[in-house]
Amino acid sequence: MQAPRGTRDLLPAERAAFGRLERSALGLATRYGYQPIETPLFEQSELFERGVGSATDVVEKELFRVHAGRGDAERERWALRPEPTAGIVRAYVQHGMQNLPQPVRVTLTGPMFRYDRPQAGRYRQFWQFDVEAIGDAGPGIDAEIVEMGTRFFRDAGLREVVVRVNSIGDEACRPAYVDRLRAYFAENIDSLSTLERERLTTSPLRLLDSKEPAMQPLIAGAPTITEHLCQACAEHFAGVRAHLDAVGVEYELEPRLVRGLDYYTRTAFEYFPPVIEGSQQALGGGGRYDGLVELLGGRPTPGIGFGLGLDRVVLALAAQGVEPPPPPRVAVVVVSADPADTLTRLRVATDLRAAGLAVRADLAQRKLSRQLEGAAREGAHFAVICGDEMANGLVQVKDLEAGTQRPVNVADLARELERGEAQHRHGPD
Ligand code: AMP
Repeated sequence: MQAPRGTRDLLPAERAAFGRLERSALGLATRYGYQPIETPLFEQSELFERGVGSATDVVEKELFRVHAGRGDAERERWALRPEPTAGIVRAYVQHGMQNLPQPVRVTLTGPMFRYDRPQAGRYRQFWQFDVEAIGDAGPGIDAEIVEMGTRFFRDAGLREVVVRVNSIGDEACRPAYVDRLRAYFAENIDSLSTLERERLTTSPLRLLDSKEPAMQPLIAGAPTITEHLCQACAEHFAGVRAHLDAVGVEYELEPRLVRGLDYYTRTAFEYFPPVIEGSQQALGGGGRYDGLVELLGGRPTPGIGFGLGLDRVVLALAAQGVEPPPPPRVAVVVVSADPADTLTRLRVATDLRAAGLAVRADLAQRKLSRQLEGAAREGAHFAVICGDEMANGLVQVKDLEAGTQRPVNVADLARELERGEAQHRHGPD
């Protein structure tokens, strides 16, 4: 049996790398005042159809629908979450979080699902670090979030991540711009593929996102939204840039950046690794969604957030040659002279763990020399050797790096090992 296509097992070394990113994400978000939240991995499909938009790639092509439930009424109702924002906003409305002090700042890190064609850096199950600030119209909060993303990548050890920023307007100015864009592409309809002609009718903005080489010159000449922002959106965008400048975030203005999801308004941004070769995959992205809370049944409330892809961060770190630190190891292995005496080894190890130490008991029935070899191979610092002296309350503690050995009273064992560990970490006092 194999893991399903488009999914991966994270074996311990890679899981440790993800764990470090998760802890870093949580630490960072906490420092910025964002509190952890969890929402279900699956929701009603309708949440995504409405919240993300049924004409988006994420819903139209990639929604991971779950065929569960007995009657037809339940079938097709569920989908695995393709992104966290819709679920979080649903929770915000459901739990009356409008009544809390605004904005509500929350963070979530976990798996997302998109039933896309798998390829490098594009999985059917992938991880995102997400933050959302709901209830602040900005522009300061926009800059706070963009800056937090750049810091996350920097803390992860990634160099030269570029953030591209745009404003995609709002319901006051976007419709007129979309009409203009439609007219522009309609004049050049001969260069459009069948799919793109369809998009011309359903969502012309997405034509700007096309990866077709033939489309690129056309896209380069298209009118830009930034030239057509209404005054309120233009002022907001100027405010975002001023706040970004104030906190020293270097960004690129990218007037053709549109995000794939319908609910975005005004600020949109994406993070990219330095150009390597071929097509560039974003490390993360986000934006403002001032209409989403209302769309999901709440009072009109602005919001903004980002989702950063942890899988791609791990890939980018490897591409930059950043070596992951070795996974944590146990410091102490408990062994004994009598191969059959697993009982004593387990008991001593259990007591040491209860005292807070990281300890493995050798539970294989094998000779002492083999047990010690195993401990050394594992990179443990100490072996605790249990033998006949236990009758007098003594064990031998062997320093596996120095090769030295000395008797220690069982009553003092945890304290002695702790002291020894501290010396291994920091050197002798
Ligand atoms: P999006 O909302 O589509 O911009 O996704 C936000 C981030 O999630 C992207 O920039 C990627 O880092 C990551 N991501 C999205 N889809 C996938 C996928 N299928 N596999 C791995 N990472 C993904």
